[in-house]
Amino acid sequence: MSKKTVVVTGGAGFLGSHLCDRFIGEGMRVLCVDNVITGNTRNIDHLMKDSNFRFIRHDISREFRLNDPVDYILHFASPASPVDYLNFPIPTLKVGSLGSHNALGLAKLKKARFLLASTSEVYGDPEVHPQKESYWGHVNPIGPRGVYDEAKRFAEAITMAYHRYHKLDTRIVRIFNTYGPRMRINDGRVVPNFIHQAMHNEPLTVYGRGTQTRSFCYHSDLVEGIFRLLKSDVTTPVNIGNPDEFTILEFAKLVIKFSNTKSRVVYKPLPVDDPRQRRPDITLAKKRLGWTPKVKLEEGLKHTIAWFQEHETD
Ligand code: UDP
Repeated sequence: MSKKTVVVTGGAGFLGSHLCDRFIGEGMRVLCVDNVITGNTRNIDHLMKDSNFRFIRHDISREFRLNDPVDYILHFASPASPVDYLNFPIPTLKVGSLGSHNALGLAKLKKARFLLASTSEVYGDPEVHPQKESYWGHVNPIGPRGVYDEAKRFAEAITMAYHRYHKLDTRIVRIFNTYGPRMRINDGRVVPNFIHQAMHNEPLTVYGRGTQTRSFCYHSDLVEGIFRLLKSDVTTPVNIGNPDEFTILEFAKLVIKFSNTKSRVVYKPLPVDDPRQRRPDITLAKKRLGWTPKVKLEEGLKHTIAWFQEHETD
């Protein structure tokens, strides 16, 4: 049988590049499409010489044509850190809407299976805890985070429309906070921020009182969940994330503990519409995909700190 071909939009990003690695490891052909506004070709340098890998520098929000046959399309292109999508509000809206439309159009043309990278941000500042897939969310459409949240909600809607009206074979993963090697040290998210600050003996900037919660999933667990979802027959959205929940203050203390640092904590204003709590209900992923996360925060954090210590370039 001929090799399967997979297109990964956002393939030069943090998660996209780990997915490219996984598909190459599975013996598939990978076409990585990225305009590198927040991604970086450093993340895929090690794949460039592989004959099964091709990098295409392109903004998926613009028309995209491809001669190759395609079996799977994973649409991962988007700024994903709050700081990035505040810096790139229009590209964020465009890639979630026009980019999703283009990627879905390609999937329809190629009769490929399409997987959308959605997000726990579709739940907004949730009033239901933990968050189940059946929860419709609590999103401020006109707040600063709305550019990401609503783009992803639109992306889910258009994916379901293609599924229902064009009978496209689709999957939707709702990704909760994920961390690990290849995050950008300056992407503004809590994991690289705290690690960077700890490495430089600077104070860790806890926003608000640090009582807001997040649940952190290591990248390898996330990739395994996505791979299983892609191979499954589940066409409704599936949460993939680690249900171990921490306050941001607890998380800061863990980073300090594992970093051999003199850093302490300082408190800074809480960003607008910052969700107060977040934890995935992963019952569906457990039941339908046989998936549970394996990597404890302590272990994943140690690897991530070590990676940043080795790779920091600025
Ligand atoms: N946060 C923080 N200090 C930082 C960066 C983030 O206290 O230097 C908080 C932020 O307010 C949020 C949580 O950490 O409550 C996670 O933020 P992140 O930007 O990683 O992603 P989010 O989960 O909000 O999308």
